[in-house]
Formats: sequence, structure tokens, C-alpha cells
Amino acid sequence: MKVESNKVVTFHYRLSDENDTLIEDSFDGDPVMYIHNTGGIIPGLETAMNGRDIAEKFNVTIEPVDGYGLRNETLKQRIPIKYVQQPKKKKLTPGQVVTIQTKEGARQVTVVKVGKFNIDVDANHPLAGRVLDFNVEIVDVRDATKEELDHGHAHGVGGHQHD
Ligand code: ZN
Repeated sequence: MKVESNKVVTFHYRLSDENDTLIEDSFDGDPVMYIHNTGGIIPGLETAMNGRDIAEKFNVTIEPVDGYGLRNETLKQRIPIKYVQQPKKKKLTPGQVVTIQTKEGARQVTVVKVGKFNIDVDANHPLAGRVLDFNVEIVDVRDATKEELDHGHAHGVGGHQHD
């Protein structure tokens, strides 16, 4: 069965950056599961999945526009340190991902620089602006159930698991 719209695809992947540095590896754990052509994975990877078959392996290099987007420098901001949701006394360190309160609700940001009263944070996705190299192995392709299509996500290990 080939990958096409409304099929549930299960796959393993290794993600590296442009310098061949490994960023993520699913082979150590559960594979990823998504419904094809519903935007469940980044666009460049979804396009590369089209027409693939079970057990197929492939490599694809994805530019930022088809991945996590370009970096937006206006998303780097200096904010009062009290906006950070952090257990008291725990020291903030650059590179750490923290949650801050904004007008639009809670948001995940990366710590850039820590001052006494203010903190510089970066709200870009950590992989924004990066060229991504995916090494993919398709584990399974099956029809989505009516329930999965209604919910808009795959069910089971690697997908959405309802209680
Ligand atoms: Zn569901």
C-alpha cells in the first residue's frame, strides 16, 4: 500500500542538520505516526512521503521554508525575568527552554541571556532557519479509520493515544 491522502503512515527517522550533526533519532523509541496530507508533519517531509511504500528508505534535504520556517529576529526579546514560569531559586541558563506568560497565553521560548531583572529570549522554533536532513524508513501504511479522520490524527503507538 502506497502513501497517499488519508493513509496512516508509520515511519522512523533520523534528523541531522547541514553539518551532519544528529538532532533527533526515532529508531531508539516508537516510530512516528500521522495521517498523510493533513499537515501533521512538516511540509517538506510530507511531500517527500508521496507515493512511498512500506519498507522504503529514503533521504531528503529540506530547506527552512518547507521545514520549521525562517528565523524571525523580532521574536528575540528582552522581558522582565518575572514573566518566566520557573520554580524559585532554580537558575536560568542560556539554551534552556522555558515557558513565559504573554498576552496570547503561555509560550515556549529559548533563553539567550540572563540578567538580574531581565532576560533575553528567542521565541523562534529551535529548528527555524535550519536546513534539515531526514533519513526515513517507512514502517507501515494503512487506511485511516473513520474515527481517525474525524479526529484529524492517527491513533495508536506513535500517534494519539486516548485514555
Ligand atoms: Zn483521536
